[in-house]
Amino acid sequence: MRNQTRREFLKAIGLAAASAPVVSILQGCASAGQTGRAESKRPNIVVIISDDMGYADIGCHGCRDIATPNIDSIAQNGVRFTNGYVSCPVCSPTRAGLITGRYQQRFGHEYNTGPPPGGQREHVGLPVTEVTIADVLKSAGYVTGAVGKWHLGLSPHFHPFKRGFDEFFGFLHGNHSFIDAGLGTFNPILRGTEPVDEKEYLTDAFSREAVAFVERHHDEPFFLYLAYNAVHTPMQAPQRYKDSFKHITNQKRRIYAGMLTSMDEGIGKLLAKLRELNLEEDTLLFFVNDNGGPTGANASRNDPLRATKGTMYEGGVRVPFMVQWPGRLKAGRVYHNPVIALDILPTAAAAAGAVAFGGNRKLDGVNLLPYLTGKKKTLPHQTLCWRSGRNHAVRKKNFKLVKMGDETGLFDLSSDVGESKDLKAEKPDVLKDMEKTYEKWNSQMIEPAWSIQRRTRRATKKKKKT
Ligand code: CA
Repeated sequence: MRNQTRREFLKAIGLAAASAPVVSILQGCASAGQTGRAESKRPNIVVIISDDMGYADIGCHGCRDIATPNIDSIAQNGVRFTNGYVSCPVCSPTRAGLITGRYQQRFGHEYNTGPPPGGQREHVGLPVTEVTIADVLKSAGYVTGAVGKWHLGLSPHFHPFKRGFDEFFGFLHGNHSFIDAGLGTFNPILRGTEPVDEKEYLTDAFSREAVAFVERHHDEPFFLYLAYNAVHTPMQAPQRYKDSFKHITNQKRRIYAGMLTSMDEGIGKLLAKLRELNLEEDTLLFFVNDNGGPTGANASRNDPLRATKGTMYEGGVRVPFMVQWPGRLKAGRVYHNPVIALDILPTAAAAAGAVAFGGNRKLDGVNLLPYLTGKKKTLPHQTLCWRSGRNHAVRKKNFKLVKMGDETGLFDLSSDVGESKDLKAEKPDVLKDMEKTYEKWNSQMIEPAWSIQRRTRRATKKKKKT
């Protein structure tokens, strides 16, 4: 979308392109006048995303063979979510949900984008009619930067520059080698739109760029979206850790430990830079993983959760998720009510005193600040739903219904976080209510056009055979 057209579009949906903060109309948001500190000084916003990390692979979730002191420190300095979810068990749809604050099925972003040029989904990306967290914060006067994995579309009109970001360093597709910049391939490392010959181990390069972004913009409100591709495959650890994890016998997990440690150290450098520049108190910082660990592919661990990335069980969608804002949120709190990465946008927008959406646009995330300060005692979400093709799930309070292919299970997460005891025969009324809840949600969602075409083609083919 051309700049002028985009500005017009933002205006039309009620997203002012003014630099001054305006009173929020978000559901549950405090206005700029009510948020105190936001009134006097808008916080910086940082969102750190890891990729394919296991639920059990951080110290504050009980990991004992790999140390993650810097990620753990975010929980110690802020709030750790024990029931923190993402809106999909794979990479791209989760990011589409997080970056818009909306269930991605509302706008047909149900599946991963890609594959490489020539493929069926080459031109699929986050619809340009959607408004991103970067659009929202930019409109409130923030300088915005994305570092790392994009995975929201390869075509030029999906580039971060067209989605509210002022700066970009990273790659556009879904995964990347950590030791090869990929010059000359379809998926190079880009600074802005220009391929660069990156020599550093990629996770270290992303940390370097994140720190540099903060240094460049320390004297103005900034939004940094730092999306590591660690610890996604390919399994490549920095050489400096080659002798560091001899206590881990599994070779793949030993490499995983090096990849994770590099990311944790990079996050430590970013946190140290915020402290050094005296910005820590005034920075709202989230850490979230994008989907459950694919235990076979990268030797991650999700225990005690059931299953892995790609599934609707807790091992696919419940993730490490935490937030710190020392100036506003008490340190060391553990929050047990279900929250979801869709909440990041409305929370950040409220903190910034920005208008996020106007008109009839449905926002599924909620502003978590009143819940985290104790002002609101109710549940942020009565229900949460997931859908990916034939598979779906719904959580309502502590019950969760999971449908994976032909298999259906009803679980009580308060006593069975591992989803091992199917209660559907024992609790038919609960099952019926959960199905009804899901159908109501599902009726508001759409299916991507290419997916409908593919399904129709397959059905016609099947019909011809029979
Ligand atoms: Ca992922």
